[in-house]
Amino acid sequence: MFFGFGRSFGAVAVPDDEAPVTDPTASIGPRQRRVQCVHCTRLFPVPLKAMILTCPACFRRVRVEDVIISGQQHTPRLETCGRIVIRPRARVVTEVLAAGMGVEVHGELTAGCVIAGRVRIGPQGRWTGDCTAASVVVDPGATILGGRFTVRPLDVPELEVPRDHADGF
Ligand SMILES: [Zn+2]
Repeated sequence: MFFGFGRSFGAVAVPDDEAPVTDPTASIGPRQRRVQCVHCTRLFPVPLKAMILTCPACFRRVRVEDVIISGQQHTPRLETCGRIVIRPRARVVTEVLAAGMGVEVHGELTAGCVIAGRVRIGPQGRWTGDCTAASVVVDPGATILGGRFTVRPLDVPELEVPRDHADGF
């Protein structure tokens, strides 16, 4: 088993140029951007370089950095209030994947469930797993091997994982 974190963090190009112009992760000023809490769905500004912060709404410690995966990773949970990008030839196997600002799959993802603001499955992406997202883009060439997809706004507390917090409904 190989863990692919590491060297590709930092200066290596993230496919940000592929993001839509309306990408809400775009910086809001020179030093800030927005992320969405994976627990309470609140959008809040964070410094560009921030990695872990306390959500101003639910006061939970949350990861806010973008997570770029370029190797292989097996993990029970993978979550951030920012984005998760699975690069080409990378492979992720996880029970829960949550990404407030969305997930881009250019490699292979096998997940029990995915909850993300936006999902994009790129032309080389291979997807297996249930999905709840505010929007889903599947590029030509992408492969979906299984999973139940639910597309709806995520501005409700159900973004909480596991989904036994039904308050608000
Ligand atoms: Zn929160």
